[in-house]
Amino acid sequence: MALATYFGRAATAASQVLQGFQTKNFEQLLNGLVIGIAFDETACSSEGRASLDLLVRLVARLYPNICFLPEGDEATKLARSLSSLARSINGQIDIVRPRLAALSQCLVVGSTAPDVDCSRMFLGSDGWLAKFSTVQPVGSGCSSNSFGAGAASCIAASNLFRLIFNEQISGATVDSAVSFSLFDYAPGSDANPPLETNTVLDTIFLLGLGAIGNGAVWALARVSGLQGQLGLVDDEEVDQGNLQRYVLALEKDIGGSKVKLARRHLTSQRGLSLQDHPYKWQSLAGSHSLQHVAIALDTAADRIAVQAALPRWTINSWTQRGDLGVSHHHLDGELACLACLYLPTGSVPDEDQVIAQALSLEDRKMDVVRPMLHSGAPVSVELMREIASRLMVPLEPLLPFVGQPLRGLYQAAICGGVVFELTGGGKPVRVEVPMAFQSAMAGIMLAAEIVKRSAHRDAPSWTTAKLNLLRKMPSDVITERRAKDRQERCICQDADYLDAYRARYKSV
Ligand SMILES: [Zn+2]
Repeated sequence: MALATYFGRAATAASQVLQGFQTKNFEQLLNGLVIGIAFDETACSSEGRASLDLLVRLVARLYPNICFLPEGDEATKLARSLSSLARSINGQIDIVRPRLAALSQCLVVGSTAPDVDCSRMFLGSDGWLAKFSTVQPVGSGCSSNSFGAGAASCIAASNLFRLIFNEQISGATVDSAVSFSLFDYAPGSDANPPLETNTVLDTIFLLGLGAIGNGAVWALARVSGLQGQLGLVDDEEVDQGNLQRYVLALEKDIGGSKVKLARRHLTSQRGLSLQDHPYKWQSLAGSHSLQHVAIALDTAADRIAVQAALPRWTINSWTQRGDLGVSHHHLDGELACLACLYLPTGSVPDEDQVIAQALSLEDRKMDVVRPMLHSGAPVSVELMREIASRLMVPLEPLLPFVGQPLRGLYQAAICGGVVFELTGGGKPVRVEVPMAFQSAMAGIMLAAEIVKRSAHRDAPSWTTAKLNLLRKMPSDVITERRAKDRQERCICQDADYLDAYRARYKSV
């Protein structure tokens, strides 16, 4: 009993990137692993501590047995607080004592090169630079910039996953050496200017405090002396399935508001004024002027709607099959606005189609699914019996969802991995559930863009920066300038929207 109670969600996420996925094999493999985390006194620097904190927040959500290997008094003390962090993320986790078990893989922070009988992965940072090596220690800097440190933990967690599940990820190999600049994302770049202290945020709203929002808040909490105003916007509460990839969330946070969770991590930013908005972003659009917006929302429709609310500028972030990244947008100008990137291409199914398919109710889409999604009517026992029978799963585990709206049943039972677990992985899940290290990386990049934009008052020359953490780094890192919609269907090509935008911000 060392796997987390939210294992179903973790299996759902893994099934989307692993070929020939079987829940039972996945579970057995994880249970048989002991992941070592070794570090010395030099890892007790500010950047080293940031890397270790995020590393534990990523690793403890998936791997049921971990082993701390601290060297020196300060590191031993730090290991105690990291153990307690790991236990609060997964109350069932086994913290194995060194020398009591053979390690399967060992992640190393600092300058140490521990003598272990398994492969070692060294991670560390120097300001904006995330570093990783399978050969030698890479060290951790002493700056107050945690962006490289956090990204290094995501890169290390992705390499650990690629190494363990090598045979099930096509084209996946482990990186041998990485130096990746969060300042400009360019392959081979060593851009690493000092991070300005006391950066003033220009009244930014962070829309969405899900997995990416959690990663963003983790990083923003560590920027020295942040000032200005930050609006925290999310109407939801943390559910059990969220723990699979919400780096801030502990088991005790289940049922609590996502806004409160984010606020708790930002309280050390005394110069930052936080505004809680525990409701949907749409209700905010009417009462506040959404000028500067950082977006960590789930859907394309939401992103198009945000762009239509005419913010002065937006910084977007995403995870999707194949890549993750960030993008900058204005409505005006030559380059793609946010809506340009998310206009439907004709192949994107509607929500009612997706839900009907997931619940095996395709033939009832018009008479049951669509009206129920519209009215929010609760799912009856009779309908649940039919769904269970069509999905060929037992009724009983689905009974707790009776009385919920159909969308709630879909989110909890399908996206939450309940049906996936009942079928032993046999019923593939169409919904996108990223791995924790993918969401955290997108969040750290979003936070980096918020801080750079606030400090430099200018958007970068590129529109999008994206990478694929299931492939070698940094060959897949691409920054590019994206053009507007070719078919001229977008609101940024509509004179009425442009006039309204220009009038609002007095630009010509
Ligand atoms: Zn557009």
